[in-house]
Amino acid sequence: MTTATGSEQEQKVIEGVAKQLYIGGEWRDGAEGGTVAVEDPATGETLCEVADGTPDDADAALAAAAGMQAEWASTPPRDRGEILRRAWELITERKDELALLMTLEMGKTIKESEAEITYGAEFFRWFAEEAVRIEGRYGVAPNGAGRLLVMKQPVGPCVLITPWNFPLAMGTRKIGPAVAAGCTMVIKPAKQTPLSMLALAQILEEAGLPSGVLNVVTSSSSGSVMEPLIRDPRTRKLSFTGSTEVGRKLIEQSADQILKVSMELGGNAPFLVFDDADVDAAVEGAVIAKMRNIGEACTAANRFHVADGVASEFAEKLAEKLGAMKVGRGTEDDVEVGPLIDGNQRDKVSELVSDATDKGARVLVGGGARDGAGYFFDPTVLTDVPPSASLLREEIFGPVAPVASFESEEDAVAAANNTEYGLVAYVYTRDLKRALRVCEGLETGMVGLNQGMVSNPAAPFGGVKQSGFGREGGGEGIEEYLETKYVAVNL
Ligand code: NAP
Repeated sequence: MTTATGSEQEQKVIEGVAKQLYIGGEWRDGAEGGTVAVEDPATGETLCEVADGTPDDADAALAAAAGMQAEWASTPPRDRGEILRRAWELITERKDELALLMTLEMGKTIKESEAEITYGAEFFRWFAEEAVRIEGRYGVAPNGAGRLLVMKQPVGPCVLITPWNFPLAMGTRKIGPAVAAGCTMVIKPAKQTPLSMLALAQILEEAGLPSGVLNVVTSSSSGSVMEPLIRDPRTRKLSFTGSTEVGRKLIEQSADQILKVSMELGGNAPFLVFDDADVDAAVEGAVIAKMRNIGEACTAANRFHVADGVASEFAEKLAEKLGAMKVGRGTEDDVEVGPLIDGNQRDKVSELVSDATDKGARVLVGGGARDGAGYFFDPTVLTDVPPSASLLREEIFGPVAPVASFESEEDAVAAANNTEYGLVAYVYTRDLKRALRVCEGLETGMVGLNQGMVSNPAAPFGGVKQSGFGREGGGEGIEEYLETKYVAVNL
């Protein structure tokens, strides 16, 4: 099925990955036999075709998950953890091929793909350890007469939906705790990047995950394929990572069955630099917070609010760093910035930059999309960005850094909170009291304090406001896949 014209090594990794649906432990074509093309965003060429799942396929996947739920819930936690641990080992051993596969379908550099694979695999190691630490409690009722027994049980079959920007880690962040908790699942990756998820399913199969625990459905029509599953009484949980717009729709659908829901949605992260900050450290952090994943991260710094006194110095230093980054196909050694995911995303970023410059913003570096094949956009720094510019309110999802200035700490916090999103914020200051005051005042689920990256499998990742609810990772991550049952014991 492969049509790629890339190197022999590229063809080999594409050929090595399964292209079918994974249902009840079997790899099979979609019920209607259709396929969906997977494109290399650096060239616009088709890499391969994968099965196009239908609502009937999704129904079969849910039937497999539901059929396996009781057996999987009673599988010893140690056995569930060992499977995750073996999968972590296999992913780590195969990091090179998985990184190449991810770069081909998503565009980020090999180095960034490797970083995602390490990060993504780490959720399996973390939750392998959590599987054997699911605890309840036994207490004496206040009146002394009865006993209170509290136990944790798997929530049941889960529907999991992941985006294209972190094709492996957004999957392991859900599959890891679900497997550890004793839940079965149907997962649907984004149609642009199904290959990393299919490769992951192959690894879990090899690691000994029993048939039916994990079912993977790829499809060109996510809405019609997933809605019946979300409304199906066999489903007990929905975990979604993606845009706020789609998340809102799925919350409505999940109301039918009153599903337990986790939503990891969009962001509009402010990056605050106070005049007492180490400006060079802030610039280093800004490069990470802005350029990780080509700016296509929900945690990407979307707007920089910098104290008046240091705003020009910060913007110029940031422009120098971003202007020096090499743009190109992520498979090339010295490239630091790959292409955007598709033409729509590239056009959206262009429109946001034009809107800002039309309203008076100044371009310090970059400013436009590249002509030719692939969806490349030059790293861009804008200054004097007026409050009316759309890119201060909308998620940019590209390598564009708008810099605005502020006069006081109160103004900075007010500007940071002036958004319907609340995923993450970044704060640079050397004043401890200010740091804690600002962290407390920010309406976000996470804060990077003097650092440009917050993601860590041992930490609770998630947002507030329209960035969603629920947490992935940390001790909190497994709770999303557990129910609490209380037994009133009469002695
Ligand atoms: P998206 O359009 O919302 O898609 C996300 C996933 O939902 C994809 O698998 C997509 O499938 C599926 N989908 C789309 N419409 C659906 C529907 N009606 N019913 C069921 N599934 C549906 O988001 P995206 O463009 O892929 O990803 C970017 C967004 O994800 C950004 O807003 C980003 O901030 C957010 N994100 C958030 C986090 C977080 O942890 N908070 C992490 C990463 C990304 P198809 O693409 O195949 O249609």
